[in-house]
Amino acid sequence: MAYRRVVIKVGTSTLTDENGALDRVYIASLAMQCAAEYRAGTQVVLVSSGAIRAGIDQWENYAGQSLQSLARVTMPFKQAMAAIGQPLLMQAYLAAFVAYDLPVAQVLLTREDFGERHRFLHARNTLQQLLKMGVVPIINENDTVATEEIRFGDNDTLAAMVASMLDADLLILLSDVEGLYERDESGRYTRLVREVTQLDERIWRMAGESGSRVGTGGMITKLQAAQIATTSGLTMVIAHGRHEGIVHQICRGHEFTGTIFRPLPRKLCHRKRWLAYGLPASGAIVVNEGAKERILADGKSLLPAGVVACEGHFQPQQVVEVRDEQGNVFARGFTNYSSEEIVRIAGCQSSQIEERLGFKRADEVIHRDNLVLVYGTLK
Ligand code: GLU
Repeated sequence: MAYRRVVIKVGTSTLTDENGALDRVYIASLAMQCAAEYRAGTQVVLVSSGAIRAGIDQWENYAGQSLQSLARVTMPFKQAMAAIGQPLLMQAYLAAFVAYDLPVAQVLLTREDFGERHRFLHARNTLQQLLKMGVVPIINENDTVATEEIRFGDNDTLAAMVASMLDADLLILLSDVEGLYERDESGRYTRLVREVTQLDERIWRMAGESGSRVGTGGMITKLQAAQIATTSGLTMVIAHGRHEGIVHQICRGHEFTGTIFRPLPRKLCHRKRWLAYGLPASGAIVVNEGAKERILADGKSLLPAGVVACEGHFQPQQVVEVRDEQGNVFARGFTNYSSEEIVRIAGCQSSQIEERLGFKRADEVIHRDNLVLVYGTLK
């Protein structure tokens, strides 16, 4: 089995050594693996973290002192470090890929590039052009300009969005963990999960807090990436980036150590993907159990009768999350009514909307065509 288009994400801890310096030997081996797949006819896109860490390492060398804790530094400091580190990262990739005669290109993206249609199309066209020309795009978040509220912050989500954007068939997250682990009652990891066919409650519960020391992701962001990937018709794999020949094993469908997430049989169309993952939600609508059941089990619209409350201020046609009364987000959609209007029609029949508001835009608060099922709040 050969994949046509593969997106490979490499985490900071995989790319850097114990002192935080870029591990050029590892980067060379990664370039070798990518080149082998490329020669076998697979288009390869890299999503690489490591800029901030590489920047810090360089800055420590300049300053002659070491940064004690990353947790306490400010956002502008991290952004400055990304600006220092990104060219170092690209320099390392360039040197590594040149040895295999493969040209590389730097592409820096932000959240808005996926939310705004014309920017999305521009980014996609450029990436497709690069792939057509036989270039390996190396993508990172544009950390220096991404504002705190809306930045991805972790490249797991970014990589999944890129893979979905490019209709890739495989997304590989190379990490410093082997994959998703089952845990016992005391939270101790027990067994590696080899295959996930459905991202259900049991799987989400396995994702604890971030296990990795230096990256920003953890299992939660990897499962969010899996949600984006599998609903977009992609296979996703989490594996340890340092295992010899891991990229080859995964790409060729050989036996490997890691977790494979199978794509859902029915993938979401691009419009629904955009609705689900493209834009940050402007607020939330809280619904009762009956409404939740009808949306989840029967694919029905959200009617005012099922609405219990509203959170945040939003206008008609904005994206909102749909939550149950326990606070679990299970859907997203374009609302037909503003938050103020919804407060006034909550709990009423659709036939009473006009009486309450003096007009009626639609029977549904969110029509089923504008509703998509998701698990949890996505960044
Ligand atoms: N964009 C960040 C960097 O290059 C990494 C985010 C992440 O850890 O995934 O350093």
